[in-house]
Amino acid sequence: PLILGIESSCDETGIGIVRGDELLANAVSSSMDEHVRFGGVIPEIASRAHLEAFIPTLEQALETAGVTLAEIDAIAVTSGPGLSGALMVGVSAAKALALATGKPLYAINHLVAHVGVGVLDGGKLPENLGALLVSGGHTEILKVDSLTDSVTLLGSTIDDAAGEAYDKVARLLGLGYPGGPAIDAMAKTGDAKAIRFPRGLSLPKFVGTAEEPGKHRNDFSFSGLKTAVARCVEQYEARGEEVPVADIAASFQEAVVDVITSKAVRACKENGITNLMLGGGVAANSRLRELLAARCTSAGISLRVPTVSLCTDNGAMVAALGAQIVMAGGSPSGLSFATDSGQPVSLICL
Ligand code: ATP
Ligand code: MG
Ligand code: FE
Repeated sequence: PLILGIESSCDETGIGIVRGDELLANAVSSSMDEHVRFGGVIPEIASRAHLEAFIPTLEQALETAGVTLAEIDAIAVTSGPGLSGALMVGVSAAKALALATGKPLYAINHLVAHVGVGVLDGGKLPENLGALLVSGGHTEILKVDSLTDSVTLLGSTIDDAAGEAYDKVARLLGLGYPGGPAIDAMAKTGDAKAIRFPRGLSLPKFVGTAEEPGKHRNDFSFSGLKTAVARCVEQYEARGEEVPVADIAASFQEAVVDVITSKAVRACKENGITNLMLGGGVAANSRLRELLAARCTSAGISLRVPTVSLCTDNGAMVAALGAQIVMAGGSPSGLSFATDSGQPVSLICL
């Protein structure tokens, strides 16, 4: 089936077109530049930017794919999770398109779409699949028993997302926004062992034992790490010493990546997951890719990392999951569903 996918859950307006598991177009317009001076995504600004970008991005996608709206078989749109106002722009536009063209509309889970995108790069998804999603808004470990029917959340962050931690720490270090790429680059010139920053929720009381799993066994916390970096910077400044930005960046990055990879690999082992899909903007991180690959290899887990443009938020991932749902015979969502900013992974399609 020829599917049009619409994504507007955060700061990317994405329109993708797929035919089955073949990618035809992936047009993305990001409002990231407009959030730079605030050091983070401002929901109101993102919503307005979606409104402005929607039609041009749609036209670009149709042109790249070389198809007309009339030829599309179904429309898929992210209904959640994400920023309410931002989601509402994409969903309203999708409903209007569906109403005007008479095409069926599918309300898709953004997180599951980050997994579904895998079919576009590497083909059919394997059995015993898990996913590690790390972005500006998410840090999750998922178990994917069936992409279209059964996805469960094994763990998530209890405060900041991994990308958010990068952005906040980059700000503390005066490295600008977005912080991920800046810290990634700066860390290459620093010593990752210079400072031992905390690995959130790794203490035995949070982790528990195999017989008695701790409450936060597979969960993440990055706000304590951010505070530890802030205190560290303050101490150098109070002593009138130069802040060792590269060492702090490298040590911070090591703490984030160490805890993410060790928890993800342990969750895989404990849940019979032998194939892990990586997704989200932080998947671009060089140290994360390196350490995750090494730890997956040692644990006998096969790691799949889609190309970066498919890891960050985009419309093709929504189209890809929509296509899988259409092919599995899933029913359309109608036109009366509401956006769900907290849509759980168990709700794959509303
Ligand atoms: P969502 O959470 O809904 O996926 P988002 O827009 O916050 O939305 P992405 O666009 O997928 O997320 O990713 C952006 C995040 O990825 C930012 O927080 C950015 O700092 C981080 N990031 C990008 N490149 C890197 C990198 N090389 N290392 C670490 N973090 C990175
Ligand atoms: Mg983004
Ligand atoms: Fe995302």
